Amino acid sequence: MTWPASERYRLEAAPAGLALVQDLLNTLAAGKPREPDLLGDLTTAKNWIGEDLSTWARERDRPEPQVEINEHDLDELRVLRGELQDALRTPDRRGAEPALADLSALYSASAGLRMNRDSRVSIEPRGTGWRYIACLVLMEALEAQQTNVWNRLKICRNPRCSVAFFDRSRNNSGVWHSTRVCGNIENLRAHRARARARASD
Ligand SMILES: [Zn+2]
Repeated sequence: MTWPASERYRLEAAPAGLALVQDLLNTLAAGKPREPDLLGDLTTAKNWIGEDLSTWARERDRPEPQVEINEHDLDELRVLRGELQDALRTPDRRGAEPALADLSALYSASAGLRMNRDSRVSIEPRGTGWRYIACLVLMEALEAQQTNVWNRLKICRNPRCSVAFFDRSRNNSGVWHSTRVCGNIENLRAHRARARARASD
């Protein structure tokens, strides 16, 4: 399985199709040296979408969707990525009741429901361009919420990093994509700030 955006940051993929949501988030420019934004231009974005949809189709055992995007779709995908990132940054997503203000729709997408011959019901994404991708993202988020793994998809707390990781810790308490990389940097920064504050007292 290849999830090209997440692999650049050596991140373990989230389970099943949720890795598609993670990969969209990880198209952002991060790391050291800085990796490029995979939604930075149309050619790069098309390559990324092609590879992701093919991995997603294999992962989900579905026909590979063909999605064409133009400059407008690319803008919308960047907005989707940003809003999704903000939503996942919400401090406590561990099952708390959403506040009233949070119930306004961030995104909506159209999909169809179908019952297959084996009696399983599946969601069929609809729309074209960015709308189709947004539909896949919402579909995978819904499935992850039903299987209780959605709140394990997180954004690294280091603001200079911000990659999306899947927290496999037992109590779901992780905040860094890597304690060694981002956790240590932040601890060192906090330590220096405290030392400076003491020195100026
Ligand atoms: Zn990080």
